[in-house]
Amino acid sequence: MSAMLASLFSLLPLALGAQQCPAMLDPAVDPALACYVDDTPGCPEDRAHCFGVHLHVVVTEGGPAQTPAWLRAELEHAFWLFEPADVGFQIVAVDRVEPSFAHMATREQRDAIGKQRFTRGVIHVFLVERLDDVDVPGEQIRGVHWRQRSNTDKRWVILSKIGSKIVMGHEFGHFFGLPHSTYTRSVMNKAPRKSPPWERRVFVDEELKIVRQRRDAMRDSAMLIPQKPRSSPKRDDPRGSPLGE
Ligand SMILES: [Zn+2]
Repeated sequence: MSAMLASLFSLLPLALGAQQCPAMLDPAVDPALACYVDDTPGCPEDRAHCFGVHLHVVVTEGGPAQTPAWLRAELEHAFWLFEPADVGFQIVAVDRVEPSFAHMATREQRDAIGKQRFTRGVIHVFLVERLDDVDVPGEQIRGVHWRQRSNTDKRWVILSKIGSKIVMGHEFGHFFGLPHSTYTRSVMNKAPRKSPPWERRVFVDEELKIVRQRRDAMRDSAMLIPQKPRSSPKRDDPRGSPLGE
């Protein structure tokens, strides 16, 4: 039985014509999407709090909505934003979402995409091709922290493929209890301004206080379950010494 399974797994990358990423052997990972685990960083080792992200990627005929490299940049910026809160994140599961969710036009879709997929313990992140502004017809947005309207304890993050690297960190700010703010330096302040530039905007002290409180509350209630940081991408330097440093 196990020999059969092993040979089946060894054939999978050929069958899928996909890049081979080691996480394909993880039962929580869709083998064709394993590079979203192997090509993204694990929690920084120095963080006291490491939380899991369950990634759900819309896959159409054109392929997945975004690349592992894009997700890596989102994670790295979130690491930078959450460093003062001693929080890190890592992808712990990946699966695919059907193409009917590629274009998220309605509130009903925002509910439906997570309704059957939500679980406690991790942050669910959905990666889609287009996310409409449900309040302004014709406009689209880059990300949203969404609460299922019939049960607002269930919530998740939806990211559009057009998002810059700061969007996931901003939405995680909402996940950790932050509303939009008016602090000039804050990444939660959406008011147009030149300074500081988007990529240097932070959580200000008042916001970090809330993030830390919510971090502990979510951990204590098992809304978020602490993870052991996994080692960072093995594929970073494929020709590096196997002995490490
Ligand atoms: Zn926001």
